[in-house]
Amino acid sequence: MVFSWQCPYCNHNATITNEQHSTVHHTFHLNNKHDESLRLLTNAIVCPNPICREYSITAELGIANRSALYKLEYSLASWTLRPLSKAKPLPDYIPKAVIADYEEACLIKDLSPKSSATLARRCLQGILRDFWNVKPARLVDEIKSIQDKVDPITWQSIDAIRNVGNIGAHMEKDINVIVDVDPDEAQLLIGLLEHLIKEWYINRHERKQQMEALIGVAKQKQEARHNTKVEE
Ligand SMILES: [Zn+2]
Repeated sequence: MVFSWQCPYCNHNATITNEQHSTVHHTFHLNNKHDESLRLLTNAIVCPNPICREYSITAELGIANRSALYKLEYSLASWTLRPLSKAKPLPDYIPKAVIADYEEACLIKDLSPKSSATLARRCLQGILRDFWNVKPARLVDEIKSIQDKVDPITWQSIDAIRNVGNIGAHMEKDINVIVDVDPDEAQLLIGLLEHLIKEWYINRHERKQQMEALIGVAKQKQEARHNTKVEE
């Protein structure tokens, strides 16, 4: 079996062949309540990127297919065992509190979308206060206060999510009010956090590094010119 896949550790896009993945099955009946054979499939994939080689493990349980050992008639449950969540690795120049809220929001997204959304809103507020120095207020007002500072596309993405049903309604309230949301809505908030972290922290850091490299080259040139003048 060959399929395309993205590594959750290094984000490398890869084509996975039989050399990089393995699946085993565990089939049992044992007089279970479904009166059918159940099958647990576990899958391991190793990232082919030579500097990563991390392993991802998933499992799926379902009614066993009678003719194909590695197939299910239909799925009853599935789990991602490693990595435990789909949180993207974030660089350490991002504030620790922002990273911690983001990672925990990802970790519990499926188990408790409500708690995930609460953490994601707190994370958003943390970013606004740290990156934009907004004055503490209701989340909705803090968001509005940066409207004329951010680029229009980023503003549209914030605004689109601000208008999603329960999430939107609860941005008007205190961030600690627990909102009833489904996993898809919780994922929208997580996606927004990832976009903002990239747009703001990561881009600012990269710009700074590029500028420092330019300044470094300019200084070297200046010194070289100075030295040749002295030699003359
Ligand atoms: Zn990888």
